[in-house]
Amino acid sequence: MSARVLSGKELAASIRSEATGRAAELAAAGAPAKLAVVVATADESSAWYVRSIARAAEKSGIMCEIVDLGAEAGPALIRDRLASLSTDDTVNGIILQTPLPQGARLEDLAGAIAFEKDVDGANPLSLGRLAAGLPAFAPATAEAVVAILDHHGIDLAGRHVAVVGRSTVVGKPAAHLLLDRNATVTVCHSRTRDLAAVTSTADVVVAAVGRAGLITAEHVRPGAVVVDVGTNPTEDGGLVGDVDAVAVAERAGALTPVPGGVGPVTTALLLRHTVHAADRTCPGPR
Ligand code: NAP
Repeated sequence: MSARVLSGKELAASIRSEATGRAAELAAAGAPAKLAVVVATADESSAWYVRSIARAAEKSGIMCEIVDLGAEAGPALIRDRLASLSTDDTVNGIILQTPLPQGARLEDLAGAIAFEKDVDGANPLSLGRLAAGLPAFAPATAEAVVAILDHHGIDLAGRHVAVVGRSTVVGKPAAHLLLDRNATVTVCHSRTRDLAAVTSTADVVVAAVGRAGLITAEHVRPGAVVVDVGTNPTEDGGLVGDVDAVAVAERAGALTPVPGGVGPVTTALLLRHTVHAADRTCPGPR
């Protein structure tokens, strides 16, 4: 068996095109959409990701300011900057990029991002509202997982989804969004005993760990759908997911590629969220 490839490129292009159209209308009305990305790390893969967001924003007619506070920035400086961007009327969306310097935790700082500008759903208020089924921007990567499955016509209702990873930016919000779609969700993590025994019973496996090749054929039931969220830089400057794509493609029914799967959809959703945050005709975060 060779798994169907669940590309994210077509979906990302369609989301970007919609965001580009609305961004042009906002700019023509004299209120261009603007995204601020706060960075406090020298991490290379993070820098690559931030550049790709900035490029995508510019292409869509969304202004993007990278606020680089340096890898030595302390929590107080990061919090102050988030607070000042939150009250800056020219800024519509704010992202706090991870990783953060030692001693600074996303969970502690993201509360300083104004809820209505929290386009990557990092503020605990956004996460709480998401869990309660209330309008909020979902973390874009978590939303991308569901969006890519929807786009490829994969029904989630009543199906068993194993999410591997329980971070507040990916695993936990993805679990909430999947529950909202009536999936039966199991969340696995580093203390899960016998990961393969759990994931191999699932109809859908979502890998969001950050370890290249963690998910092998033994973790996957024949015919299952596998969503690879992982982005792990390789020595030759490439990118691989958490899934051993060659072995898993022989067993799974469908698999998202890395690159070209969840990643482009995530970036496109960040642009959509920023345009929605800028659009005063929208009632609020969605
Ligand atoms: P994270 O905060 O480091 O969380 C990793 C999670 O994986 C934790 O919950 C951890 O469990 C779990 N884990 C670690 N080792 C494990 C093991 N051996 N078995 C099972 N679970 C294990 O990472 P993250 O921010 O969620 O990101 C996860 C991956 O997604 C990374 O590769 C990241 O680069 C990628 N990512 C991609 C996008 C995109 O747009 N494609 C966006 C964001 C992130 P514990 O909680 O027990 O420690």
